[in-house]
Amino acid sequence: MRVRSSEVAQEEASEPPDSLAVRPPLSLKPPLTNQPAAQPAAPAPAGRTLVPFRPRGPERFPISPETERFRKRFYAEASRENWMDWRWQLRRRIKSLAELERVFALSEDERNAVHQHQGALPVGITPYYASRMSLTDATEPLRRTHIPVGQEYLKMPGEADDPLGEDGDAAVPGLVHRYPDRVLFLVTGFCSTYCRYCTRSRMVGEAGGEYSFSRGQWDQAIAYIEANPQIRDVLLSGGDPLTLADDKLDYLLGRLRAIKHVEFLRIGTKVPVVMPMRVTKALTKILKKYHPLWMSLHFTHPAELTPEVTEATTRLADAGIPLGSQTVLLKGVNDEIDVMKKLMHGLLMRRVKPYYLYQCDPISGSAHFRTSVGKGLEIIEGLRGHTTGYAVPQYVIDAPGGGGKIPLLPEYVVGRDGDDLILRNFEGGQYRYPDPQGGTGVEKMPSQTGAVKGAVRGS
Ligand code: SF4
Repeated sequence: MRVRSSEVAQEEASEPPDSLAVRPPLSLKPPLTNQPAAQPAAPAPAGRTLVPFRPRGPERFPISPETERFRKRFYAEASRENWMDWRWQLRRRIKSLAELERVFALSEDERNAVHQHQGALPVGITPYYASRMSLTDATEPLRRTHIPVGQEYLKMPGEADDPLGEDGDAAVPGLVHRYPDRVLFLVTGFCSTYCRYCTRSRMVGEAGGEYSFSRGQWDQAIAYIEANPQIRDVLLSGGDPLTLADDKLDYLLGRLRAIKHVEFLRIGTKVPVVMPMRVTKALTKILKKYHPLWMSLHFTHPAELTPEVTEATTRLADAGIPLGSQTVLLKGVNDEIDVMKKLMHGLLMRRVKPYYLYQCDPISGSAHFRTSVGKGLEIIEGLRGHTTGYAVPQYVIDAPGGGGKIPLLPEYVVGRDGDDLILRNFEGGQYRYPDPQGGTGVEKMPSQTGAVKGAVRGS
């Protein structure tokens, strides 16, 4: 079913306004009494010095030196307290051509593409995430994933606006029910940054076309989950659920946790990567109430692995939230074994288990991001056996048309020789494994249990 605005209750304002409704003062007041002891800052990666951030309130985050230089250069009017306030980061997102040109030396292609843009998937970059990008090099990986280029407007054969057929599986607006025991709950169309390869590019952003989100829509989705006892797993996604204000997230998780047959809650988010200061102590206190709650974090490149992100993942992990990563394989961004290995190692160091590596979905205008499937297999082959097994994600294609995730592995079964299977290991060596097609033969033997027991007793 298509999710059309005409079918959606409009009595509640959609995001982001509600998430910004309660605006804090731009600078935090000093503590009056007995503030909790400050937490130690996350360790700095070797060879880098952290600029300590000493807030006047109870929150404490490190600021990496590059980011601090960027803040002073482009946001001199903002205090460190402003910078560490996620609502300030949202309000000050880079969204227009003028704002982009204030920070980046745009290529002509980028400038034209931004100028040409209309509708959903707008430009949106938090100042923090912009501080991680090259100001001058349009081919730098993080910049490529967030500043449009002309190729975004080319629709190639096989591409579609909704390649996964999510709209066709929407049970009610914003709730995708494809698998019997689990649902995908799209709780907002708002993100803190907009990735140019987004699978839901048709519906995210302030100008999300025919899509809209509201409290009424949430209630409709929750009523559907309540009425379907086979649903044991709810994945909150969007848009990005962590852009919701604390009270809204608390409400949503509380309603879902109150449903007896819902065993498992998950949140899919990029916020801890692009706006790590959103992971406040108040947020982790809320999340802790709703265990078992798991989180999938969207990482793209090792350049995202900053001290700020380390602090965010540490806070989430310390709140008892199992963390997994999701990464989209992107041409010219992370399609090299060394880059992927560095990212996966960095994730493990930050207590995040590499979970999925996605083949880029064939959304309209994504051809410049898509690698061959062979490239993905080559990367998995370059990881499997060459590094810690925990560091190897599952490579999947989300099948166009709604077929679900299909795992892909390099070919390790070479063939069969009689009752032996011929296998290939990570170094190319061949090994035999006994695998008789008629079974191992033990099934036909009489049970020896009694004889063995007798022998033990008599000894
Ligand atoms: S954060 Fe996720 S939902 Fe938002 S634009 Fe990026 S990929 Fe899309």
